[in-house]
Amino acid sequence: MTDLKLLVRNNILELIPYSSARDEYTGKDAIFMDANESPFNGPYNRYPDPGQKILKEKLSSMLGLLTEQLFIGNGSDEAIDLLFRVFCTPGTDRVVIMDPSYGMYRVCADINDVAVDFAELDPDFSLNAGRILDKAGPATKMVFLCSPNNPTSNLLDQSEIIKILEGFEGIVVVDEAYIDFEGGVGLISLLGKFANLVILRTLSKAWAGAGIRLGMALGDPFLISLMGRVKYPYNVNMLTQDKALELIGNETQKQEWVELLLSERQRLEKELKAIRIVLKVHPSNANFLLVEVEDPDTLYDSLAGGGIIVRNRSRETHCNGCLRITVGTRDENNRLIELLKSY
Ligand SMILES: *Cc1c(COP(=O)(O)O)cnc(C)c1O
Repeated sequence: MTDLKLLVRNNILELIPYSSARDEYTGKDAIFMDANESPFNGPYNRYPDPGQKILKEKLSSMLGLLTEQLFIGNGSDEAIDLLFRVFCTPGTDRVVIMDPSYGMYRVCADINDVAVDFAELDPDFSLNAGRILDKAGPATKMVFLCSPNNPTSNLLDQSEIIKILEGFEGIVVVDEAYIDFEGGVGLISLLGKFANLVILRTLSKAWAGAGIRLGMALGDPFLISLMGRVKYPYNVNMLTQDKALELIGNETQKQEWVELLLSERQRLEKELKAIRIVLKVHPSNANFLLVEVEDPDTLYDSLAGGGIIVRNRSRETHCNGCLRITVGTRDENNRLIELLKSY
């Protein structure tokens, strides 16, 4: 079992966090003269709850977790950056990132001056635990995995992830941003067993809330408490907390959206496979398709000229010729197919 204390930067272990007015007095019915807020323009005159108590209770019970196992941030991006700041000493520590995957892990590493070792997926995009573990050395503090993966759209093999959790002493981050699209239940049930597991979730995809910026990290209570100490005191604003409560209060709606997108994905996959310039549609467990085409750069421009923007991923490892296409509404998907047929 990983001893988390040994992995954390000393300055973070010793940090005395900022204590805000709302940390020191948490009651409600009072005249607030403690935070230099304006008395006008309620409710926005008040600072938001730094502990996000109500939202955290709802989200953690939805996920079957204790509130102490849940960090809420300004998108998953904040959680990724905080993990670097908690665990990685700039200029000294390293991380391993599976390749290809989401670009933010590398950007956060660069910003924090943390060296990156990339571990390639197999050409069919499956995860090879041995290759990840081979890249991890004494200075490696974290490994980044993404399942289902962006941009390859496949779910990673859980037994390979477990080999990494067992074989690596540092933190294993598994980004489950797309887990709601046929990704199964994910790895939450492993949290009790592996103190070094951190799962990332977000309201940006299946919950249709990318604009409000609400991401989560799920993990060991001690690790989560460290993230809470390092974050900006008011990292999730009042508008976001309110809107997030509204979104997660309507799980039926989210499920309807997910089912619609899954059926559209299936239709799109079938239609795309019948188009001449499409060489391959990779199997997907997400709300997008990785599609190999004959001439991705020219096709990208042509689609953009027709008003449809996709993502050119053809320069990513093992992604030669590939465009990444997000599943849209039925009408949007029809327009895409129409453009491709007339190309
Ligand atoms: C879209 C996406 C996210 C979401 O990030 P937010 O900051 O929560 O919007 C996280 N991870 C991956 C792999 C993604 O593709």
